[in-house]
Amino acid sequence: MAHTKASCSFCAKSANEQQTELLFQGNGVFICNNCIQLFYQSLPKEQQSNEFLPLEKLPAPKALKEYLDLYIIGQDEAKRAISVAVYNHYKRIKYMEFMKQQKVDLEKSNILLVGPSGTGKTLLAQTLARRLKVPIAIVDATTLTEAGYVGEDVENILLKLYQAAHQNISAAERGIIYIDEIDKISRKGENVSITRDVSGEGVQQALLKIIEGATVDVPPQGGRKHPHQRLLQINTRNILFICGGAFVGLDQIIRARIQSGTIGFNFESGATSSEEFLSHIHPHDLIKFGLIPEFVGRLPVMVGLQTLSRDQLIAIATQPRNAIVRQYRAMLSLDDTQLEIVPEAIEEIADEVMRHNTGARGLRAIFEKIMINAMFTLPDYPGKKRLTITKESVHSKKPTIQLLQKIA
Ligand code: ADP
Repeated sequence: MAHTKASCSFCAKSANEQQTELLFQGNGVFICNNCIQLFYQSLPKEQQSNEFLPLEKLPAPKALKEYLDLYIIGQDEAKRAISVAVYNHYKRIKYMEFMKQQKVDLEKSNILLVGPSGTGKTLLAQTLARRLKVPIAIVDATTLTEAGYVGEDVENILLKLYQAAHQNISAAERGIIYIDEIDKISRKGENVSITRDVSGEGVQQALLKIIEGATVDVPPQGGRKHPHQRLLQINTRNILFICGGAFVGLDQIIRARIQSGTIGFNFESGATSSEEFLSHIHPHDLIKFGLIPEFVGRLPVMVGLQTLSRDQLIAIATQPRNAIVRQYRAMLSLDDTQLEIVPEAIEEIADEVMRHNTGARGLRAIFEKIMINAMFTLPDYPGKKRLTITKESVHSKKPTIQLLQKIA
């Protein structure tokens, strides 16, 4: 309960001088919110309640998949596989003590997402983190370097996660790290599509250490470590790593392996398209592509994402909870404007995305071009308005604005 005249019995700040926001009264003593926070942070980690993930409320795979369905169109196989992997990951944390008693050591199921750019890999990781209420850090593998080189140290990924966890180490230690463009840190020379002029092997080695599970010293302000600096210690044992990449050319490696019948079992896959080949991915293919065997070994769940079809692009524009059309509709309503988009206009936009092969990201770019002029002038028109996007508007990039009062 807030009190107006007293001061905190621990730091002596008083509420009535507005030095503290809240003051709570106990049995003859007072405590302010700042001191509560300070004491809370000095509790042992396991005694700090975790605002981020109450493990007893861990959703089952089916519930996770249903949540993913609200935001992600298509990618059914990936959504299923990732829901199971993520459920198992957090179950492993939940029952860690019990498993120790049983002398069983459940291994972590880090995930590799293979699929073209703009098909929903990052969105999958973000949506999962939101549903599970765990912090997430999204990093680009191409910006990472081995310690001592120009670029970002691998440890800084952990700093990002710590910041996403609002400086709560125990929440960070159960968070998710999504590493994009993992295919771009392949070993030089293994694959013709790799243009990177420095070897990615060192970065893979550096990443391996944190993916495997280690206690890592992290400089709290970022940047390079230096002596006498206070360091955060973050244990990565329970952090879930999801790596994603387009792996251009991997389908050819799989095709060659299947056709030569060398590794694994010799089978008639019947595959013809690049995506069908990708569904037969084997760890050896990734090693051939340029990932080091130890790294591949740490990503046991491999999932393929499909190129989005025209119908899926149309669905992405309109259906998910935060679909772009819904976002514009909500935004325009704040300016007293109804948004009307004829179905042919959305089809035309999807066709344009297909022609330029820009994936779901291309949808937003086209919408932005169409909307920008209208959104610039709309707030200046008085009263209720309607903004209509027709197939024509997609070509001219100019929607029609009607002032509804004048019509009525
Ligand atoms: P990737 O990581 O595969 O390159 P993203 O997940 O970053 O692609 O996708 C970019 C954007 O495109 C997302 O923010 C989302 O708006 C949209 N998007 C991509 N794929 C899908 C999908 N399958 N369902 C819904 N939206 C999608």
